[in-house]
Amino acid sequence: MTLSLLCRAEGVVSRIQLNCPEGIAILPNVVPFGHATDLRTRLVDAIREIDIVPIELADDNAVPDCEIFINTIPESMPRSSIMIIGAGWWGGAAFATQPPAAWTQVDLHNPLPIGPYIAATLAVADVYLQIRDPRAVTGSRAYGWNAWTCTSEVGSDTSGTVPLGLDLSGIALAGVGAVGTAWMATLWATSGLSGSIAIVDSDAKGVSSSNLNRGLLFRRRDIGLQKAEVAATAAKGTIDWRPINGRFESSDIRPSLLVSAVDTNTARDAIQSRYPARTLSGSTRDLRAETMVGGRPGDGACLRCYNPLEAEVSDAQLRARVEQEGAGVLDELARGLGISNEELANRLEAPGCDAISDRLLAQLRAEYGDDTVPARFAVGFTSAMAGVLLAGETLRLMIHDEPDGIPDSKRVTFQFRRPESSINGRRVYPRDAVCPKCDPAAPSHEIWASRYDRWTSKASGKS
Ligand SMILES: [Zn+2]
Repeated sequence: MTLSLLCRAEGVVSRIQLNCPEGIAILPNVVPFGHATDLRTRLVDAIREIDIVPIELADDNAVPDCEIFINTIPESMPRSSIMIIGAGWWGGAAFATQPPAAWTQVDLHNPLPIGPYIAATLAVADVYLQIRDPRAVTGSRAYGWNAWTCTSEVGSDTSGTVPLGLDLSGIALAGVGAVGTAWMATLWATSGLSGSIAIVDSDAKGVSSSNLNRGLLFRRRDIGLQKAEVAATAAKGTIDWRPINGRFESSDIRPSLLVSAVDTNTARDAIQSRYPARTLSGSTRDLRAETMVGGRPGDGACLRCYNPLEAEVSDAQLRARVEQEGAGVLDELARGLGISNEELANRLEAPGCDAISDRLLAQLRAEYGDDTVPARFAVGFTSAMAGVLLAGETLRLMIHDEPDGIPDSKRVTFQFRRPESSINGRRVYPRDAVCPKCDPAAPSHEIWASRYDRWTSKASGKS
């Protein structure tokens, strides 16, 4: 995962050197590409197949700009070095400092990839920030994230054990892009899973070169092929992926758990219209990864809640009009689109999901008192984190192992710029009082509520 994220960071990483002993047999479901059975060869082959940033074996005289140690504690930690470790549901990264003693006690034999993948995103986020915004990452520090407790605690109990043979049938994924492929890659790497999962993507253009920096299951040679089919082939394993090219809402799939990894509110609205018993959603904004667990009907949020529909007119068209006609046209535009002035302002500021928004940029520039903070971040690590956390919430729902006091509907946020801040964590996520899709007075409420209750009674029968 670390290599896959680094090699997609074109423009930030120019070259990767790998230091890995020869003669280590590779386990199944570790590296999605290549065929070699030796770990080192396989890693190099896979990164070359992805074909973005070049990789070579490390030579002894190399002086890298940044060194990442994985599950290895070096004797000294130079200024730009990162040490990462992950196990079970927890992953951590130490920057220019030795990791806390508790970290070395974690059980590295735990087969769950969630913690290690979290650690990988933390390392690569730091590499980006060292280059794009070095003032955000000064000093030595160490932090981690536990996807089970949604806190920074290392955690050592046995909660969240995924039983061998856990059947994931009844799940469908909508959106096989940056977040969706990270979700698939995480489940693929989790041993012991089975079942059939429909994966649906409606992008008729298929994989494009701009998807390579974030789509963890895409290689350059896949450009032009349908995303769901490419991802299903790359993540071939014990899960039977059923790729579908088209819109979820026009398919005949009736999942009991729908995982949303779509990236527009219009798409969220459309897939919520099918009212699956349970919904999960993963999304990103700037350097923030988020997951949402939807329902219970009438109380908890749905996929449409707090997500106003985008108007049919494109943001570029809107910007062009404001540039031509001046700010005076804003009121008229907002009225015409049926959105608030604030929402319109947000849209005008959002340059697209792989660039940092102008609003955040202005905030950063004001904070540092200059305008040299760069405008673009390649945010592959953010969507990877969203997908990994989303896979964690999927497994949590499927094993029905929820600690007492955790609400049915919740939202988890992880912000990479201030990972240690209290922004990061889990919160109750009540429904949006004005959301038309989950209005308890609407006829659809009864359908959704009966499906939800069926899910819940089946779940309590299992535990
Ligand atoms: Zn709603």
